Amino acid sequence: MHENNLSSKLFNNAKQLIPGGVNSPVRAFRNVGGEPFFVRAAKGSKIWDVDNNEMIDYIGTWGPAILGHAPLPVIEAVHETAKRGVSFGIPNPLEIEIAKIIVDWVPSVEKVRMVNSGTEATMSAVRLSRGYTGREKIIKFEGCYHGHVDSLLVSAGSGALTHGEPDSAGVPKGFARETITLPFNNQEKVRQCFEKIGDEIAAVILEPVPANAGLFFPKDGFLEFLREITKEYGSLLIFDEVMTGFRVAKGGVQEIYGITPDITAMGKVIGGGLPVGAFGGREDIMNNLAPDGPVYQAGTLSGNPLAMAAGIAQLKELEKLSAWDRLEEIGALLESGIREAIEDAGRPYTFHRLGSMFCLFFHEGPINNLESATAAANTGEFPKFFHHCLSKGIYLAPSPYETGFISLAHSEDDINKTVEVIQGALA
Ligand SMILES: *Cc1c(COP(=O)(O)O)cnc(C)c1O
Repeated sequence: MHENNLSSKLFNNAKQLIPGGVNSPVRAFRNVGGEPFFVRAAKGSKIWDVDNNEMIDYIGTWGPAILGHAPLPVIEAVHETAKRGVSFGIPNPLEIEIAKIIVDWVPSVEKVRMVNSGTEATMSAVRLSRGYTGREKIIKFEGCYHGHVDSLLVSAGSGALTHGEPDSAGVPKGFARETITLPFNNQEKVRQCFEKIGDEIAAVILEPVPANAGLFFPKDGFLEFLREITKEYGSLLIFDEVMTGFRVAKGGVQEIYGITPDITAMGKVIGGGLPVGAFGGREDIMNNLAPDGPVYQAGTLSGNPLAMAAGIAQLKELEKLSAWDRLEEIGALLESGIREAIEDAGRPYTFHRLGSMFCLFFHEGPINNLESATAAANTGEFPKFFHHCLSKGIYLAPSPYETGFISLAHSEDDINKTVEVIQGALA
């Protein structure tokens, strides 16, 4: 059962050559102890490590694998496209095709630019908001993660939350001073800030449903309030939908809550597993980008044909399969199974889910900001729970601050097996 000899050997080799042995910190398992496994292959809902352990995967490469791993339409699209060349650095028709899908699907987006990661998308969105407004300060919220952008790595979620330092070293104090960090769901603090320096604020950026410090929700009226106050003071509202976009609904959180941000950052699902991000919004704002406007933004590989083909294939397949109904169905099944298991075990808990995204906290809650999410994560129950599940072939994110992802490839059998393992873990 669950040998990891080869993974362990590879990890030792990796540590000689790559800082910490990983190319992104959460992968190092520091929040749960032990060592990461190395993947041999992944298909559908399953992932196999180099020691031939089979796992049901609830990370889905941190969001992109919404169809499951290695979906045929995406593989075929990449394969066919690659035969005609893997990068051109001059426009190709696929760029228009994906832009059209994004503009059609995401309510607030009139024009869109493609980049190579979620980090690039939020970084560019922030620069654009500063260029458009001629102002410098940004409001962000504690626990929201927007990639590793200098000025946004303040009280950030995801790996940044748990890497042992309050914020990243190497971010100039001057940059951090331009970022005002406030508690999520606290209207009063936002209002006070605007009353004091509203005419200096270029933008408010947030994950409209924060999913990088566990998963929690905006209180009734919070998003509406942010929409109104930014408008009142001439600041822009930036939704970071890198994780939620195309996953929680065709048009993301903005479609579900009916709020129209000025700029939206996207990533993960739109790349079909290839490195893609995008940011888009109101046309008069987007027209400030070079070459039309004064805000410079560029990318050698932006709009890369393989990445565009993978994204287009994935998005079309989601639409064809009416994916969001099925994801809700399978998500609800997992939710009821987990709730029953943990209630039978008589343990305090909070379970949050939005469609195919879920998070189990070992704490009665309520959890609606970073402070309460941290209290829930600090109960110390997670590492043991994680390792029990992993040893039984259920791969959850290796941190109590991460959201779980379900894909279209997860079957009822997968869910039943998962619930059984979770029952065992809680016994
Ligand atoms: C993952 C994520 C990012 C960063 O995207 P990368 O592709 O990892 O750079 C930004 N914002 C949110 C909300 C994310 O979940």
